[in-house]
Amino acid sequence: MAVEVKMPQLGLTMEEGTVTKWLKHEGDAVKTGDVLLEITTDKLTSEVTSEVDGTLLKIVAQEGEDVPVKGILAYIGDANEKVEQKTQAQQAPAEVSAPKKDEKTKIAVIGGGPGGYVAAIRAAQLGGEVTLIEKNKLGGTCLNVGCIPTKVILHCAEALTEAKEMSQLGIDVDIKNVDWDRVQKKKISVTDQLVNGVTGLMKANKIKVIQATASFVSKNSLSVAKKDGTKETLSFDKIIIASGSVPAIPPITGIKENKNCVDSTAALAFEKIPKSLIVIGGGVIGIELATAYSQFGTEVTIVEAMPKLLPMMDAELTAQLRKMMEAKSIRIMTEAKVQSVEDCSIGVKVNVEIGGSITAFEAEKALVAVGRRTDTEDLHLEAAGISHDRGRIIVNDKMETNVEGIYAIGDCLGKVMLAHVASAQGEVAAENALGETALYDGKTNPSCVYTVPEFAGVGLTEEKAKEMGIAYEVGKFPLMANGKSLIMNGGIGTVKFIIAKEYKEVLGVHILGPRATDLIGECALAIGMEATVEDVIATIHAHPTVTEAVREAALAAEKRAIHIPNK
Ligand code: FAD
Ligand code: NAD
Repeated sequence: MAVEVKMPQLGLTMEEGTVTKWLKHEGDAVKTGDVLLEITTDKLTSEVTSEVDGTLLKIVAQEGEDVPVKGILAYIGDANEKVEQKTQAQQAPAEVSAPKKDEKTKIAVIGGGPGGYVAAIRAAQLGGEVTLIEKNKLGGTCLNVGCIPTKVILHCAEALTEAKEMSQLGIDVDIKNVDWDRVQKKKISVTDQLVNGVTGLMKANKIKVIQATASFVSKNSLSVAKKDGTKETLSFDKIIIASGSVPAIPPITGIKENKNCVDSTAALAFEKIPKSLIVIGGGVIGIELATAYSQFGTEVTIVEAMPKLLPMMDAELTAQLRKMMEAKSIRIMTEAKVQSVEDCSIGVKVNVEIGGSITAFEAEKALVAVGRRTDTEDLHLEAAGISHDRGRIIVNDKMETNVEGIYAIGDCLGKVMLAHVASAQGEVAAENALGETALYDGKTNPSCVYTVPEFAGVGLTEEKAKEMGIAYEVGKFPLMANGKSLIMNGGIGTVKFIIAKEYKEVLGVHILGPRATDLIGECALAIGMEATVEDVIATIHAHPTVTEAVREAALAAEKRAIHIPNK
């Protein structure tokens, strides 16, 4: 039977494409991979290739015609075969048809964090009648007690360091004092402004916001309990769960009882800068808050159970970062397991097992940052029959749970707990809920750690490539040889490319250096577009910028770096 050539979906939001040029004609023999035609969308031009060997029997969509995603463009088959062409109605793919304007799909979103509020906006854009239920504050962890407040505190800490180091630039400044209350006020004003922005977005998109705790009554109804004690049951066509996560407190003797032993939320709101701080857990939260407080003059000790800090980051660059942190007087203990916590005269005593013996560390405060757990207890998932693994909701790559019409996204999946991942998954869930077909693919997801200098990575680490048995090559460029870095931070840091040996595609990029968290965007795009190292090299990077070091690291992978000797 003849095979249909269909309009591909080139992006999550693509609904149709225009046939710009046929490169094969009716009667032409075609091979798998031959380019049949060119199409354009409002964003890009692309080629459609044949997925089979055969003869191009019939062209259905002529040049200049607009065709919906999955609409039929042509048929390929045996030379003498007759084509049974589908009617327009048969062609219309049910899964991509948008809901009719007069039949609004009723969508509930549980949770107003970066997963939930983005899902709500996308669902409203696609014509859904959206209700968002949030038990606390819009913006979720990210805006209120996560990404944004940590970055405000870090920014203030970095400003202090810059001011202290300004004499190196010939500028003498007198630092009188750090007014911690004003640092806290700055944090609150930034988070408030962003939360108000989200409130405005809800209004602009006609999303109904209910301040209440939602729990399942059945697979399409929710009990919504407000703080004033009132309760109602509401029904929906589709439900997107975005209930996020809360700090995990490990079962270590004394931790829960000790008032000086706090989680990240409390550590962002200390009444005064602590003189000393023990950070339990050398993951992202621990490292970022250690970086912030040490710059404010706190004596910081990090206690990490594993042999390495920052488990998901490239080991070589993590080791470089560790040295830099130690050079700034942050004490770092790895393979160190906290046994118990007790009171002491200055605040808290943490007993740690290192190399078989117990060492006690004392500090004014201890931050417990050993990971987060999903916030799914209030949801009564069982009432709807939603599958989960100890509170971590199980979904497929369309963000669908096992129950039709119920989706879950973000931290409540208990996998990659990042704001941009929650938002990306939110768009996917909303699109699927409103009749489109979208898949979540985490391969372009960058990991960023806001240290000094910044640390970011995307794609495979060298360790992962090795573990997967992939033949790879490494290209490295030290920032000491990059003019802009030299100006900005004395040239501290490295850019590292991991490329596949055979076809030279970019597998991973890792950057330790100034603005690494911004630079990683280009690298994520390269991975998303399956670029080769040559594509990066062929792109002209502006001078003087740190981005030049990204291209130089790509050149180094090909042993043709310009500003360092090639080994
Ligand atoms: P959340 O933001 O947790 O939002 C979930 C919302 O659901 C909450 O507002 C909650 O009140 C609500 N909710 C829960 N249950 C119910 C219910 N039953 N009914 C109604 N409402 C409910 N990520 C980054 O990408 N970059 C960073 O720099 C970064 N820094 C961080 C720093 C810290 C200190 C922390 C703690 C986290 C940080 N994260 C960062 C992680 C990021 O905050 C989360 O990954 C992100 O907020 C997850 O979004 P979410 O929408 O899935 O969940
Ligand atoms: P994490 O998973 O990043 O790190 C926890 C660390 O604690 C690990 O290194 C682990 O080995 C260690 N640990 C666990 N038990 C321990 C124990 N008993 N003693 C000593 N060490 C122990 O978790 P986190 O730092 O709490 O962060 C939670 C989530 O928030 C992360 O998943 C992260 O994605 C997200 N986050 C992201 C950013 C960012 O993107 N910049 C910033 C902060 C937080």
